[in-house]
Amino acid sequence: MPKPVIDYKKCTNCGNCVDICPMQVFEKENDKVVVKHPDKCIGCRACEVQCPKGAIKIVD
Ligand code: SF4
Ligand code: SF4
Repeated sequence: MPKPVIDYKKCTNCGNCVDICPMQVFEKENDKVVVKHPDKCIGCRACEVQCPKGAIKIVD
């Protein structure tokens, strides 16, 4: 199953992935973006492509 992993050394918590993920996998919690529902990921890679910091990798 695909799921996103965030590299917090690169992530700025901009929230872009929260907005663009069609499956609501990401959520913002106390100003930090987290992978809240990895089980919902369909592996479309929109988040990986559109993260401005290249902080997201989709792993299997
Ligand atoms: S789009 Fe990238 S930099 Fe922005 S919150 Fe998501 S992982 Fe972090
Ligand atoms: S790969 Fe697609 S479904 Fe999975 S977290 Fe990224 S945007 Fe959401």
